[in-house]
Amino acid sequence: MVTVVGAGFAGVETAWHVANAGHPVRLYEMRPAKMTPAHTTGHFAELVCSNSLKSKLPTTPAGLLKQEMAALGSLVLAVAAQHEVPAGEALGVDRDKFGASITERIRAHPNIEVLSDEFTPEMAERLLELGAQIVLATGPLTTEPLAAWLDARTGRDRLYFYDAVSPTVEASSIDTDIAFAQSRYDKGGDDYLNCPFDRESYERFVDELVRAERAPAHAFEAGGRRDGEPTFDPEAAFLEKVRYFSGCMPIEAIAERGARSLAFGNFKPIGLTDPRTGWRPYAALQLRPENSERTLYSLVACQTRLKWGEQKRVFRMVPGLERAEFVRYGVIHRNTYLEAPRCLDAELRVRSVPGLVVTGQLTGVEGYVESAAMGIYAGRQLVTRLAGLEPSEPPRETAIGSLIAHLQDQTPRDFAPMNVNWGLLPDPPGSVRDKAEKRRRKLEAAHNAFETWLHAAPSTSS
Ligand SMILES: Cc1cc2nc3c(=O)[nH]c(=O)nc-3n(C[C@H](O)[C@H](O)[C@H](O)COP(=O)(O)OP(=O)(O)OC[C@H]3O[C@@H](n4cnc5c(N)ncnc54)[C@H](O)[C@@H]3O)c2cc1C
Repeated sequence: MVTVVGAGFAGVETAWHVANAGHPVRLYEMRPAKMTPAHTTGHFAELVCSNSLKSKLPTTPAGLLKQEMAALGSLVLAVAAQHEVPAGEALGVDRDKFGASITERIRAHPNIEVLSDEFTPEMAERLLELGAQIVLATGPLTTEPLAAWLDARTGRDRLYFYDAVSPTVEASSIDTDIAFAQSRYDKGGDDYLNCPFDRESYERFVDELVRAERAPAHAFEAGGRRDGEPTFDPEAAFLEKVRYFSGCMPIEAIAERGARSLAFGNFKPIGLTDPRTGWRPYAALQLRPENSERTLYSLVACQTRLKWGEQKRVFRMVPGLERAEFVRYGVIHRNTYLEAPRCLDAELRVRSVPGLVVTGQLTGVEGYVESAAMGIYAGRQLVTRLAGLEPSEPPRETAIGSLIAHLQDQTPRDFAPMNVNWGLLPDPPGSVRDKAEKRRRKLEAAHNAFETWLHAAPSTSS
């Protein structure tokens, strides 16, 4: 018997895969008896916001991921195809029909028993004591008691309650004639790239940063409207909570404090020498590698709540980032996720808790499709283990493999949730300068590696 907790995007996929392999599954879902602050129905795999499952094009990372998921028997994609609505190149779905149909398929499965209960820490402890297998797929809005339990069981401070993420760009889109590799005072190697500002470019950047449009806070992220408190300001309450949980402030809020606040703080240039001028720059935005292959760099200390279009416009004013390709925009929002590289192994098993697997957004991926992909992956690896076999990791070149690599990469960084993107897929061997050719080769390598992996996998149906 496998217990899956949460019938969201990941949980339904894990339950489906484990049940299809012949194992009995008990699936806990607390809705509709108890709602999260964002869900509004009792449907499984409810789309809480956009009804888009991102690009369908096989020539995009999101399309590639969907191809791999479909080949692995994705329930979410099969149902999405039945309830597709026109959405250009994206896979849009009729959210009610989609959710109702997923719920029906899961409830009708002979190997799945659905329990409409909130899963509690006491239940988790009891099951673990009995040697049961639990898969936690409770997502970004995991109930507080369960999140506190997971936090305690993974060693505290390894579970995040808010995202405070800086934008990430593709390494190949950084202008390295301007951005230079250097650590402060030349200590610690050349891990960082530095984008040097002179006074004029700095002041122009700060002007635009403070004027740029921000994304609104969701009321629930701030703790909801409080009755009897007419002066309650959700934006301020939200930022207060974020500061408490992640110890950070949006860069635009720091810039508002004074024209030079970034030059003295986030962008302080001390210990740096611009090789083009031989002088210390007026200010410097640092870029830090996000993975061991250095195909992605994040903008250090640039957590932001600007709207995405505004981030692209404003951060492209930074010297060296004029043509930057953004693979992830900065966000500050409510979330729940583990510091996967420290807590999870490559099968998404919690290192410190035998019998516990975590999947979906809790692992540190972001989005409906990525979470569903992790659900399939967790189910697949678990089924292989239950058959007494050793699961093989998906190759690094594949879309699923690149998400797992993100969760496992031990590069020192502020671990942050990631959606599937070009920068996660490894560069082809040799130096390929043409962007289109490079992407074509990445896709080709992904397809070849995926096919080999799929056909080499052991048979696990019981
Ligand atoms: C406000 C908001 C807007 C978003 N917008 C988008 C978007 O536009 N596009 C996009 O791709 N992604 C979006 N996301 C992210 C997306 O929702 C997640 O990536 C995805 O749903 C995660 O899948 P999951 O299975 O991990 O969690 P979920 O899909 O959230 O599923 C978790 C399930 O666990 C249940 N649960 C929680 N705690 C318990 C418990 N203790 N006992 C029993 N059941 C429990 C919940 O009711 C829920 O059904 C958004 C998220 C939020 C919060």
